[in-house]
Amino acid sequence: MIVSLHVATGAAGGALAGTRLRALALGPVLHLAADLLPHHDIRSRKFEGWSGVVLVALLAATRGVTSPEAIGGLAASAPDLEHVLPLPRPGGRKLFPSHRVGGLHQEGGVPAWAQLAAAGILLVAVVSRPRNAKRYW
Ligand SMILES: [Zn+2]
Repeated sequence: MIVSLHVATGAAGGALAGTRLRALALGPVLHLAADLLPHHDIRSRKFEGWSGVVLVALLAATRGVTSPEAIGGLAASAPDLEHVLPLPRPGGRKLFPSHRVGGLHQEGGVPAWAQLAAAGILLVAVVSRPRNAKRYW
């Protein structure tokens, strides 16, 4: 999936999880689940990188730097850092399961525009939620 949808699902997951620790644990699970769905990626690393930075910064600014929403957004998008950082590649392959095992990350299916739209809807829902809300939906 595209980075902005990983940030958005992590933020929504963090809001639902309600605690930083659960948001942190849920993030990579949400990343894996999203990557398993066949999808189109955005080829621009510049767009992917900057959209991730801007959206995590938006979550930090609106929900708080250590909020479950910001931590969830960061934790769900962090696995994609290995596409740009010089991390170890045992056996010549990347680390995160959906990046490492070819069949787990398939091209096709959900178009990039639909992922961007879904990310926008989720993020608006997360950032517009009252800070003292006990339940999300
Ligand atoms: Zn990924």
